[in-house]
Amino acid sequence: MTKQTIRDVNWEGKRALVRVDFNVPLEDGRITDDTRVRAALPTIQYLLDHGAAVVLMSHLGRPKKKVVEGLRLAPVAAHLGQLLGRTVKTAPTTTGPEAEAAAQALKAGEVLMLENTRFDAREEANDEGMARELAKLGDVYVNDAFGAAHRAHASTEGVAHFLPAVSGLLMERELAELGGLLENPERPFVAIMGGAKISDKISVITNLLRIVDTLLIGGGMANTFFLAMGHNVGDSLVEANAVGEVNNILAFARERNAEILLPTDAVIADAMSADANRKVVSVDAVPDGWRILDIGPASVAAFSEKIKQAKTVVWNGPMGYFEAAPFAEGTRGIAQAMSESAGRTVIGGGDSVAAVEQMGLADKIGHISTGGGASLELLEGRALPGVVALNDKA
Ligand code: ADP
Ligand code: MG
Repeated sequence: MTKQTIRDVNWEGKRALVRVDFNVPLEDGRITDDTRVRAALPTIQYLLDHGAAVVLMSHLGRPKKKVVEGLRLAPVAAHLGQLLGRTVKTAPTTTGPEAEAAAQALKAGEVLMLENTRFDAREEANDEGMARELAKLGDVYVNDAFGAAHRAHASTEGVAHFLPAVSGLLMERELAELGGLLENPERPFVAIMGGAKISDKISVITNLLRIVDTLLIGGGMANTFFLAMGHNVGDSLVEANAVGEVNNILAFARERNAEILLPTDAVIADAMSADANRKVVSVDAVPDGWRILDIGPASVAAFSEKIKQAKTVVWNGPMGYFEAAPFAEGTRGIAQAMSESAGRTVIGGGDSVAAVEQMGLADKIGHISTGGGASLELLEGRALPGVVALNDKA
C-alpha cells in the first residue's frame, strides 16, 4: 500500500513533528559521519519552504532509558544548523511542559530539535502516554527515519496513531527503491549476499530466492555452504548447526529454478589479522590451521560477469573481512562491478554500505540504503511498523 507523503499536506501555518534518524557516530562530542543528517535535509528543507514550523525528534546511541550527557542532541542540532544555514533551537526534554512551550513558540520557517527520545524509558516500550505527549508537539507527524522504521517505538509508531501521519522524502525513496525492488524487477535479477553469519540472513535469502534469477553468496556465510558440500574449512568462521538450513536453501533454489553461485576460490590466512600469512586456494583445499577471509580472484571474476549481465542487482553483506585491507579485494571487486553496471543497483546493510563508502564508489550506485536492520527486514518481505502506521494514499 502506498503511503501519503509530505507532498500530500498543505503545510502553511502548520507544525510538522518529524521523526528523523540522527543516530550519528560521535567521538568526543564531534560528529564523525553526518550522512544521516544530510539524508534528512530534503524533507526538512521541503517543509520549511512550504510554510511549516519544524519540530525534530530522534534517538542517539543507547542511553538505556536515562539521561546521558554525552548523548544529548545539541551537537547534532548545531551541525544541522550549519547545513541549513539557519539556527536550530533545542529543547531540554523530549516531551512535557518545556518541550511543549518550545514547540508552541516556534514560528513558520523555524526549526526545533527535541532531546534524545531514548532518554525516556517509555520510548522503546511504545508507551501510549508518551505517544500522546509527543502528538501535542505538532499538527502532522512525518516519519523520515527509515533506519528506525523496523522498531515500534513511541516516536516511530505510537505517535502516528494520534496525528495525521505521512512519510518524509527519504522514507519514500527507501520504500520505492528497496521495497519496490522485489515487486517488478527487470531481469536478469541478481542478488549478492555476504557478511559474517548465515543464521542472520536465512529469511532474507529465502525471500530473495522467491524472485531472483541468480544468487551469489560470499563472505563468512559461504563457509557453511562449503561445510554442507563436505569441504574442510579449517579454522574458518562457520556455523555447523546451520548446515540443515543451508540444505533447505539449496533445495528451495532448485525448486524455484534459481541459480546459486558460490565462490570457487578463497583468500585464506593463518590468523585473522592484516599481517597474517595468506594465499589463494580452491575452496576445497583449505588446510587445517588456515581460515577463509575473502573470496578469491576467480570468484570475483565470475560474480562480476553475472553482475554485468544483470538489469537489477541488490547487494547485502561484505565478501570478506574487508576491515583489513589484504582481505578487502573481494568486496572491492563486487562494489566495482556494481558501479560499472548499467542496470538498477541497490545496496543495503550497515557494513556493506560502509565498505562501499570507504572505497569511494557510493556515488556510482543507484541507491544506497540508510537503514541497516530496516533494509534487511524489507528484503525479508516484512512490513515495517513505522511504515504500516502511516496514512494510506487515497
Ligand atoms: P551487513 O552489516 O552489511 O549486513 P554483516 O553484518 O552481516 O553485513 O557482516 C559484516 C561482517 O562480516 C564484517 O565485519 C566482515 O568482516 C565479516 N566477514 C565477512 N566475511 C568474513 C569471513 N570470511 N570471515 C570472517 N568475517 C567475515
Ligand atoms: Mg553488520
